[in-house]
Amino acid sequence: MPFMCCVPYCNGNYRKGPRVSVFSFSRDRVLAGQWLRLIKRDNFTPTASTKVCERHFTEGDFRREASATDAQTGIRVTAPLKKPVLHPEAVPSILPNCPTYLSTHKHSRPTPDSRKEIKEDIAIRKALLESVADEDQYRRERKFHDVDELE
Ligand SMILES: [Zn+2]
Repeated sequence: MPFMCCVPYCNGNYRKGPRVSVFSFSRDRVLAGQWLRLIKRDNFTPTASTKVCERHFTEGDFRREASATDAQTGIRVTAPLKKPVLHPEAVPSILPNCPTYLSTHKHSRPTPDSRKEIKEDIAIRKALLESVADEDQYRRERKFHDVDELE
């Protein structure tokens, strides 16, 4: 069972969610603190099994392939990695955060209007996440295709 994503509203690796690559919190406390602030989960302490999925990072935040130069031929060979490797200083930037008043007015119920806005907001963010996932998929497929063509 892959680890599920800890980001609110994200269903990465949930039973009905998409299969995604996940990343652990950094052991660097400053960086881990930044992640926590961005993810915005109150009273939450990340553990070794707390993961953030690839959908919250931009394509530039990780490497999806490894390359090496063949010493004899001098030819540079690039191969896709099984699992993307996150840049050591990357922070999650694509986040479907709940509207701030959800966390600041915990005890008051949202009015029907704002409830509708929350729903719309979530829908927009979900769509955004999905389109990002689609684009990732597209790039990955295109990359594999390019590698095939090189052979
Ligand atoms: Zn996620």
